Amino acid sequence: MYKKYHMIDCHTHFVYDNIKQDAEIDKLIDESFNKNVDYFFYASDRFEIFQNIMNKAEKFTCVKPVLGIYPDFAKKDDSYINKAIEFIEQNSEKISAIGEIGLDYHYEKTPTIVNRQKEVFIKFIQLAIKLNKPIVVHSRDAHQDTYDIIKQYCTSMKVYIHCYSSSVEFAKEFCKLPLDIYFGIGGVLTFNNSKVLKNVVSEIDIKHLVTETDSPYLAPTPYRSHMNKSFYINEVIKEIARIKQTPLEETYEQLYNNALNLFDI
Ligand SMILES: [Zn+2]
Repeated sequence: MYKKYHMIDCHTHFVYDNIKQDAEIDKLIDESFNKNVDYFFYASDRFEIFQNIMNKAEKFTCVKPVLGIYPDFAKKDDSYINKAIEFIEQNSEKISAIGEIGLDYHYEKTPTIVNRQKEVFIKFIQLAIKLNKPIVVHSRDAHQDTYDIIKQYCTSMKVYIHCYSSSVEFAKEFCKLPLDIYFGIGGVLTFNNSKVLKNVVSEIDIKHLVTETDSPYLAPTPYRSHMNKSFYINEVIKEIARIKQTPLEETYEQLYNNALNLFDI
């Protein structure tokens, strides 16, 4: 239940090296929890940290596991992917969502890479459907393919495009699909040059927006160039309220409830 000026970080990795900096994560959770962040959706990029994430969720009830394989690790072999799927199936009851999964053509866009990323993305969508979980999608320089796959494979399910970076037109197309769609808004919104994202926030109904850090990356102004922390989300909420011209408290409450709806908590 929402409490005044409380927040939810819908997408975080906490640190750069989740295995080496494990003790550091505990401190980050404590610090932000004491500054009104009630839930942390701790997303994996690779199989190697699945167990660490589960351990953290065991230790802190405010930490919610989001497990999946990031597009960059889709090039690993089938046995790696299957190990990840098996782990998710076995721990399904404790997992909040499948992610982050998706497509990223930023560094490599050969047909082999593209096809493999699509294949793995679809596999995890099918897993999410089977387990009745939301998906947390990463999409970079691959917006059309991401849209096409979601349109074809995801019906009447919860789809969260994290760190949304495409146009308002694409966002509107997503909103037309028979889905429960959410766009993750983070520190980028506070940057002066983020015209496209400010436009998305202005034009898209607030019921589709959720707050996230993608920590340790993309800290909002005035913390830019520092490591991101979950409670910095208050800067993002202030900016959303400013753009949408809604009262600050109401904006906090709406964004909080959107996150509860997305993850069914
Ligand atoms: Zn991420």
